[in-house]
Amino acid sequence: MNAILPFNCPTCHAQHHASVYQAEHHGLRWGFGFHCAQCSDAFEFDDVGVPDEPYRHVLLEQDGTWLLEPSSGAKSFSVHTWIRLRHALALDLTTLARLKALPHRVRIKGTAVEMNWLAQQCSEPVSIRQGGESELHDAFDFATLFSSR
Ligand SMILES: [Zn+2]
Repeated sequence: MNAILPFNCPTCHAQHHASVYQAEHHGLRWGFGFHCAQCSDAFEFDDVGVPDEPYRHVLLEQDGTWLLEPSSGAKSFSVHTWIRLRHALALDLTTLARLKALPHRVRIKGTAVEMNWLAQQCSEPVSIRQGGESELHDAFDFATLFSSR
């Protein structure tokens, strides 16, 4: 997944566009690329994990916010999935207990790439779709869960 954002060249200050990408390849990766058409200054940056907030925001804005939830219609995940999610995200027990005790259906929100990676960690079928306002309000943000690692 790629998104484009306005970016000022650090060398000549001309405004151009930079691109940010997120991908799943042996884990989550993201990167940033810029090439100035005016002065030819360029740089690229790649990292693992979840994009820094301003760049993740651009991805969510341009590709939408996606929701992952149990596809069985159940309110929560199976015990096996919770164990796997605890390991994949290194969730502490307080967060895990909060997620398991939600009064509504458990939903996690993030980019499509993040939700696909998360689906691979689950030991049951899950559904991934774009969410409505109220569903997104109730959903846990993947970046918050992921950054507790
Ligand atoms: Zn420049």
